Amino acid sequence: MKQGVTRRSLLIGAGGAAVSPLPATPMRRKKGERIAVVGAGVFGAWTAHHLLQAGHKVTLIDAWGPANSRASSGGESRLTRAAYGKDAIYTRMAMESLPQWTALSAVSGLPIFIPAGILFFFPTEEPYVADSIAAHKKFGLPTDVLTQAEMTRRFPMIDFTGISVGLYEPGFGALMARRAVLTLVERFVKSGGSCKRGFVQRPVRTGPRLDELRLSSGERIRADRFVFAAGPWLPKLFPEVIGPRILPTRQEVFFFSPPAGDRRFLPDAMPGWADFNGGDIFYGFPDLESRGVKFAHDAHGVEVDPDTQDRRPTPAALAEIIAYRDRRFPLLRGAPLTEARVCQYENSSNGDFLIDIHPDWPNVLLLGGGSGHGFKHGPEVGRYAASRLMGSARPEPRFSLATKAETHHREVH
Ligand SMILES: Cc1cc2nc3c(=O)[nH]c(=O)nc-3n(C[C@H](O)[C@H](O)[C@H](O)COP(=O)(O)OP(=O)(O)OC[C@H]3O[C@@H](n4cnc5c(N)ncnc54)[C@H](O)[C@@H]3O)c2cc1C
Repeated sequence: MKQGVTRRSLLIGAGGAAVSPLPATPMRRKKGERIAVVGAGVFGAWTAHHLLQAGHKVTLIDAWGPANSRASSGGESRLTRAAYGKDAIYTRMAMESLPQWTALSAVSGLPIFIPAGILFFFPTEEPYVADSIAAHKKFGLPTDVLTQAEMTRRFPMIDFTGISVGLYEPGFGALMARRAVLTLVERFVKSGGSCKRGFVQRPVRTGPRLDELRLSSGERIRADRFVFAAGPWLPKLFPEVIGPRILPTRQEVFFFSPPAGDRRFLPDAMPGWADFNGGDIFYGFPDLESRGVKFAHDAHGVEVDPDTQDRRPTPAALAEIIAYRDRRFPLLRGAPLTEARVCQYENSSNGDFLIDIHPDWPNVLLLGGGSGHGFKHGPEVGRYAASRLMGSARPEPRFSLATKAETHHREVH
């Protein structure tokens, strides 16, 4: 979730046949360059896809594999929504990403996009509501503005006490995150891309351009251009250039089993949801593929190192989630915890993504800062990042390194 409300290519099928249209990645420069993409999370995988579709020779490298357990993209599910208040740039990106997710879902054996709908609900009608409605009108996106009584009738599994207004986006829903990245990378490889396992060492300056990557195995990978999409590890790869401009924070998510046989928590009855809660957002999902009903607190947790952070859930975070669950979802009181995950957001100071050329190396793109809301935008982030690397997209100030201040540790738990 983004906080701080101030805050055609063709997808080629297994047999090589074109199975689903995806939007074009227009690039003006010569084709057929060698490009290395470091990081096979959602940002790196979609960038590699778009570069390959544009005719380049692309190698995707990841230390632990696509959407691995520690990666920010390695979770079960991610919300896709277009309500972004005044940040309409993200409304457009979410909207333009959705057909690409739907195309990927159509060629995947199991669903990637689950159109459960998304409900955002608010105690007061804040500017975020009016701004989101205005952006949806501008882009022609269907949105139902619901009263408390209407929400109570449509979504009886939620107690809307103290809530005055809801925004329901029928066209959006849940993305099966890990499966999505794995499916995309599998198709990337079947379409001629190369994906390899390797730990890329901190790049060192030897000239005006970066010439090669060095892996911890001693292997060297030469390329014409490079994308570093290392998510929460970006500050470790570029301590001087990025350093504290991206701050990984601990985030915990919990799954609870709904009552046996109860269909009210299935995605055809229950939407993905977010409780705005005066800016202190809680959010969650229906019972997707019987994993359990998911709950999370969007507040940034303590600063963590993605290599060393303890992946065991804390009693305090569980207690907080249960207290919230029991208040807003009383039908789930006493529901057993079935699973928990500990991950990290990789926050920029303002929640905006980092998609910019390295200040010293013109053939290197820095890509990250998903800031808890990046997954849904993967297809459009990848399209834009590919064009930016090849010099055919204009710099977008919001994604520039210059607009990323040093972030500071914020203790929440
Ligand atoms: C709990 C949680 C809930 C979220 N909910 C949502 C949501 O509902 N909706 C939404 O849109 N977004 C959501 N997000 C945010 C979204 O998941 C992230 O923004 C996105 O996954 C970031 O992807 P990435 O590709 O930048 O990073 P990652 O997925 O972390 O990928 C980086 C990759 O780089 C690799 N790597 C790192 N260093 C090296 C190296 N030296 N050599 C080789 N490989 C390396 C890693 O192994 C990793 O696979 C959520 C995030 C979390 C943690």
